[in-house]
Amino acid sequence: MDIEIESFQLDHRQVEAPYVRKAGRIETPSGDLIQKYDLRLRQPNEGVLSTAAIHTLEHLLAGYLRERIANVVDVSPMGCRTGFYLIVVGEPTVAEVQTALVDSLAEVVATEEVPATTAKECGNYRDHSLFAAQEYAQEILERFKKD
Ligand SMILES: [Zn+2]
Repeated sequence: MDIEIESFQLDHRQVEAPYVRKAGRIETPSGDLIQKYDLRLRQPNEGVLSTAAIHTLEHLLAGYLRERIANVVDVSPMGCRTGFYLIVVGEPTVAEVQTALVDSLAEVVATEEVPATTAKECGNYRDHSLFAAQEYAQEILERFKKD
């Protein structure tokens, strides 16, 4: 493959989760900046999020991060289930994104319902666990606080 994929260059043995990392930057022909961030929640090759938990976090973070960061294009789960990709138009700092993530995870812990969990609104509506999402969110928050 000739195309260089940034995240394949990252040594996943050297990182320490949880963390936020700027992972990509494209300037469009009209001059807008599109940036990608890794929101790594679990330690690569050691911890993962269960599929039901990451799915529920996806539904919750979709709203919570948009409430805190302007011009979010997408928040999507990593296939390895250790975190999320965040794509934004503009250039929030890593510190700003991390604050938004920490505040969003705190909101996950406090919420009592998951949005869009009907067959009409979701592609696998049976596969959710708010309980597991909150357990992970609490643990990730504690790890962020240690930094
Ligand atoms: Zn869904």
